[in-house]
This record gives sequence, C-alpha cells and structure tokens, in this order.
Amino acid sequence: MKRILITLLGVILMISGVYMFLYHRDNNAGTATRNQKLQVVTTNSILEDMVHNVGKERIELYSIVKRGTDPHEYEPQPTDVSKSSDADVIFHNGLNLETGGNGWFTKLVKTSHKSFDKEVFSASEDVKAKHLTTNVKEEDPHAWLDLKNGIMYVRTITNVLKEKDPKNASYYQDNAEAYIAKLDRLHKEAQSKYLSIPESQRLLVTSEGAFKYFSEAYHVTPAYIWEINTEAQGTPEQMKSVLSKIKNSDVKHLFVESSVSPKSMDKVSKESGLEIYSKIFTDSLAKKGTTGDTYYSMMKWNIDKIYAGLSK
Ligand SMILES: [Zn+2]
Repeated sequence: MKRILITLLGVILMISGVYMFLYHRDNNAGTATRNQKLQVVTTNSILEDMVHNVGKERIELYSIVKRGTDPHEYEPQPTDVSKSSDADVIFHNGLNLETGGNGWFTKLVKTSHKSFDKEVFSASEDVKAKHLTTNVKEEDPHAWLDLKNGIMYVRTITNVLKEKDPKNASYYQDNAEAYIAKLDRLHKEAQSKYLSIPESQRLLVTSEGAFKYFSEAYHVTPAYIWEINTEAQGTPEQMKSVLSKIKNSDVKHLFVESSVSPKSMDKVSKESGLEIYSKIFTDSLAKKGTTGDTYYSMMKWNIDKIYAGLSK
C-alpha cells in the first residue's frame, strides 16, 4: 500500500513537472511574440520612407523595388517572397502602379499567401484617382507627386500601423502629426510658387506623363513623351506630339526622371534645341545618403528644380 502511494505521488510530481515546464515555455514564447517588432514590407522606396517616418525604430521595415529602378515592372526576388511571407503588413501604392504591366505584385501577394485588406493595404485608398488619357479605364498611379495626396498616404499608413500594433498607437500618431506638418508646409509653398512664371513658359516636359496630379496642384501644364512606363517608349508619334507641344509654348528647359533611361529625352533635346535642366524624381527616391533620398527631399528637389528650369 505504502509503495503504491509513493509511486502515485511520484507520477503526480512528474506530471506536474512536465506541466510546469510546458506552461513556462508557452509563457516565454508569448512574451517573445509580444516583444517582437511589427514586420512591415513596402513595394517601393517612397512608401518605405513614409512608413519609416511614422514607425521609426519600433517597426522592422523591408522595401521591395530598389532605389533608382522602375516599380511599374518588376521581377520579385527570393528575398522579396520570404520577407512578404513573414510580413504582418504590406503597403503598396495601388492605382495600378504595381498591378499594371506584368502585374508582378498580384503574383507576389499570392505566392506569399497574403490577402488584400487583411495584410495588404493600398496607401492611396483615400486619394481621388486620375485616369490615363490614352486608356481612360486605367488609373494614373502617380498621386504622391501632389503632397496633399502624400499626406493622405501617411494618414492611411498611420491608421493601419495603429490597428496592427495598438500598444504603439500614440507613438505612431505623434510621429505622423509632426511629419504631416512638415509636408504640409512644403505643399503650401509649392501651391503659389509657379504663378509668377508666365503661363506660356509653364510647360513641364518629362519622359513619362507622371505629373498629372503635380500639375493640377501646383499650376503647371504637363507634357510628356509617353504617358506611362508600361507602354512603348519613344515611338515616332510620341516624339512628334511632344515636339509640337514644345513648339507651341515658350518653355525654356526639359527634365528627365531619375528612374528612366535618358535616351528619348536626349533626342527631344537635340530636336527641340532645349537643354535638359536637371533630373527629377518620380517613381523612386535617390540612393540613401544623396539628395532626394526621402519623400520630403525628393519633393523639395522637384519643386525647386522645376521652378528654376521653367523660370530662366
Ligand atoms: Zn511612373
């Protein structure tokens, strides 16, 4: 009887030991998860910088399309797939930026087993979309080139981060408010900046027609060789059309984007006799450590260079 009791006690002690061990281990795992930073992925460097300004060091951030390259068409790399699979949140521009052309982003979302509106969010969701003139059913993605829209992106990003990571909600909100105030000051400056330039000189000539939103916000007229990077670039008809717009204006300079080949704009320059004043930023930020490496700095660069090139 005594032996049975001792055995029984031993078994009870053993079971409770195992239970305590498992309970303790589970608790530790829980703590580790709670301390882990929110894993955020963005499709391009402009969104990366906006998200960074809100989340700063409290999030883990990875951006897919490298700086200086075109986000319209892209071939995801193995790292992009693994980072997207591990992500708590993925931000894309939307408005057909990453889903036009070869539709690389739609495929990536599928391969990473994520879904739109659950983990995948469009930063432009509150923006009033403009459409292409060549294909009116298709949206023009370049909404961020109007800072007022950029501010809407930041608000959307902030709301998603707060919802996914409530313990840092007030931290994200405070960062966003300070960042939005800075962007808003630049927006207000740009709104009246170009009005002193004679209207016939205010033609903004670029390779891609990325400046619809910018032009409306800041009162310049956009002209371009091709309307969107996913179409043929520099065809004879396109060249003829842009050259005639230049001829019918008093424009002084041309511009070329940092993320396209300058070949076609060089040709426009030769044929029109106008010089390319400067590179400007549209679909990508500059390399880290150089001017134009943040959304604010790219917009400031564009606003100042365009002003200088159109006015002299
Ligand atoms: Zn573009």
